[in-house]
Amino acid sequence: MDYDIVISGGGIAGLTAAAAFGAQGFSVLCVDPAPPVTQRDASGADLRSTAFLQPARAFLERAGVWARLADHAMPLQVMRIVDAGGAEPEPRVIKAFDASEISDQPFGWNLPNWLLRRELSAHLDTLPNVDFRPGTATTTLFTRTAMARVGLSDGGRATTRLVIAADGRNSPMRRACGIDVSTVHFGQKALAFAVTHPIPHDNVSTEIHRTGGPFTFVPLPDHQGCPSSAVVWMEEAAKANALMALDVSAFEQAMTERSCQLLGPLKLASRRSLWPIVAQAAHHLSGERVALVAEAAHVLPPIGAQGLNMSLADLDVLLDLALTQRETLGSLAMLESYHRKRIADIRTRVAGITLLNRASMAADPLLRDARAAGLEALYSLRPLRTSVMQMGMGTSVRHAGGTAQ
Ligand SMILES: Cc1cc2nc3c(=O)[nH]c(=O)nc-3n(C[C@H](O)[C@H](O)[C@H](O)COP(=O)(O)OP(=O)(O)OC[C@H]3O[C@@H](n4cnc5c(N)ncnc54)[C@H](O)[C@@H]3O)c2cc1C
Repeated sequence: MDYDIVISGGGIAGLTAAAAFGAQGFSVLCVDPAPPVTQRDASGADLRSTAFLQPARAFLERAGVWARLADHAMPLQVMRIVDAGGAEPEPRVIKAFDASEISDQPFGWNLPNWLLRRELSAHLDTLPNVDFRPGTATTTLFTRTAMARVGLSDGGRATTRLVIAADGRNSPMRRACGIDVSTVHFGQKALAFAVTHPIPHDNVSTEIHRTGGPFTFVPLPDHQGCPSSAVVWMEEAAKANALMALDVSAFEQAMTERSCQLLGPLKLASRRSLWPIVAQAAHHLSGERVALVAEAAHVLPPIGAQGLNMSLADLDVLLDLALTQRETLGSLAMLESYHRKRIADIRTRVAGITLLNRASMAADPLLRDARAAGLEALYSLRPLRTSVMQMGMGTSVRHAGGTAQ
C-alpha cells in the first residue's frame, strides 16, 4: 500500500485532516489542484474568516497546529444578536450572549482563512510522513474490499486503505462513490470582506437581522492601527450582485447603513468576495474505503459559525475510529460506525440553520416582528438561553467537559 490515507482536497478541512492524521503517525497523501493562496492581498485569497468554537480549538490542539495559530487568533467573548427588522434600518432588539454564562473561556477564536492556509501548509512541510501535493487533483477512484486506488491528474496513482473526501461541495470523490445529496437553494449570496471602524469591537461578534439575511461582524486584530472586523453580509442574489458592483464609496455608505452604524462609519479594508448560499447534506457519509468530511458531507449558510466547526467534529470522530481500529483502517465496519456517529448531528444542524436562515431572510413585516419576539423570548429564559449557547457550540453534543455558543 502506498499510503495509509489519501486526502482528496487541501482546503482548510483537508489540510487540517492531513495534520491531524499525520500527527498520529499515519502516512498521508493530500492533493489539491489549487495551490493554497497564503497572502491576504493576493488574487484568489480566501477573504473569509473562521470562528473556531471551543471543541474546534481542542481539535486543532490535537492536530498539533494550535500553537502556530494562537498568536493570530481573536477571542470571541460575546455574541450579540440585533433585530433591525422595523420600518427603518435601526436596532429594535439587541441581546448579548456572554460566554462567561457557560464557560471560563471565550466562545471561540477568529482567524482569517488565507492565514490558516499559510500556517497549515507550512506545518505540513515539517511532517515527514505527510506528502502534500498542491497542483494535483484526484481524477479516478477504484475500490475493493481491502483497498482503494486513486488516479491523480499528474498521471500517477496511489493505493491506500482510506480515502478522505475533503474536496468540497461538488466533491468528485463523493460522486465517484455514487452518494447523493439533498440541496436547498435560498437564492441568496454572501459578500465576505474586512472593514475598519472607529468604534472598537471589544471582542464582540454581532449578527444584525433585517431582511435578505444577516449582516455579521466578527472581530479581527487591528488593521493599520484601526479596529477591524471580518464581515459576512447575506442578501438576495440580485441585490448581492448589485452591491458587489458598487464603487467603494457607495459600498461603504450602503454597508454603514445596513450595519445600523453599530461600529460607526465602515471603511472597506480588503477586496470583496461573493459566495452562493445553499444548505446541503450527503445521504450517506461513507462509501467503500471512502469517508466524506466537511463540505463534501454538509454545506450550511454561514450563520452561527457552524460549517468548518462541524467539519472538525467529523475529523475528530474519524480520527478516534482510526486510532482504535488502526489494523482495520478504512474497513466497512469502521466507516459505517463513522456514518452512525455523525449523521444525526449533521442533519439536526443543517435543518436548524436552514430554519434560522429563512427567519433571517424574512421580508414580511409580520414575520420580522415574530422573529424579534422570538429573540426576546429565547433570551429572557436563562436555561433556554444557555442550552442554545451550548448547542451552537457543539459542546453539549460531544465534549461534556468544554462549553459554548
Ligand atoms: C461567507 C462564508 C463564511 C463562513 N464562515 C465560517 C465560520 O466563521 N466558521 C465556520 O466554521 N465555517 C464558516 N464557513 C464555512 C466554511 O468556510 C466552510 O465549511 C469551509 O471553508 C469548507 O471547507 P472545505 O475544506 O470543506 O471546502 P473547500 O474550502 O471548498 O475545499 C475543498 C478543496 O477541494 C479541492 N478539490 C476540488 N476538486 C478536487 C479534486 N478532484 N482533487 C483534489 N482536490 C479537489 C478544491 O480545490 C478545494 O481546495 C463560512 C462559509 C462562507 C461561505
